[in-house]
Amino acid sequence: MIIDFHTHTFPENLAGRAISKLAASSRAKNYLNGTEKELQHSMREADVDYSVLLPVVTKPEQQKDINQIALKINRHSKETGLLSFGGIHPENRDYREILRTLAANGVKGIKIHPVFQRVPIDHIENLRIIECACENDMIVITHAGYDIGFPGEDFSSVRRIERMLDTVRPQKFVLAHMGGWDCWGEVEDRIVGRDVYLDTAFSLLPIEPAPGTARDLKENPPLSGEQFLRMVRGHGAERILFGTDSPWSSQQKMVAAIRDSGLDAREQEAVLGGNARGLLGI
Ligand SMILES: [Zn+2]
Repeated sequence: MIIDFHTHTFPENLAGRAISKLAASSRAKNYLNGTEKELQHSMREADVDYSVLLPVVTKPEQQKDINQIALKINRHSKETGLLSFGGIHPENRDYREILRTLAANGVKGIKIHPVFQRVPIDHIENLRIIECACENDMIVITHAGYDIGFPGEDFSSVRRIERMLDTVRPQKFVLAHMGGWDCWGEVEDRIVGRDVYLDTAFSLLPIEPAPGTARDLKENPPLSGEQFLRMVRGHGAERILFGTDSPWSSQQKMVAAIRDSGLDAREQEAVLGGNARGLLGI
């Protein structure tokens, strides 16, 4: 089974605008148009059985609508292969109630994005959400490292992540982008081996520029194949989750990259789906 633990979709009426805005700020190419339909098509082509959707709540008042959509998507997961996490904003004062309700409705986890949400991961607003999600036995996944659209901003830097981990000690915690996008060396030194899962999203393949934009390959180099292997094995392949960040990379290319990475068959099976299956309980 292949599970893509890191994908994004938008409601049909918003997808076009959301994707072009993000493509412009990141200068990264979108492979799909951001709709559930195109993601499902991509999943069939790449042999992906499930995609985990990670909605990002950028304003506190959005959480209600976003979580309603998540619940609606999850009613059809078995047929569609789409499984949505919930979203929450650090400034949602009623975070306890929100998390309890999501958990009671079978939502397996939440996504936080300190850079987009403008609250550092080691600040109290995020710490208490992470703690409360753990109390509800939920998975928490966070954006980790720099963000391509906000150069140099350290809301989820390796140092801050370490501080959060030392304070909350969360169970079922996932750091996206192999623990810290564009901080590969620091992650290898400081995060590898800690009790967290790492997803592979946007780490292993070079970033393709959005049409009409330019990107120097040296700007944000991907993880080298050699460092990727060293990090997976140093951390333990049983705590690495396949993720693509679709529509920002191609599921098909990313599956191929894992197959060609030098991991053995058992490690590949674990990374591509076995670990996620266990974590999600599916
Ligand atoms: Zn993402």
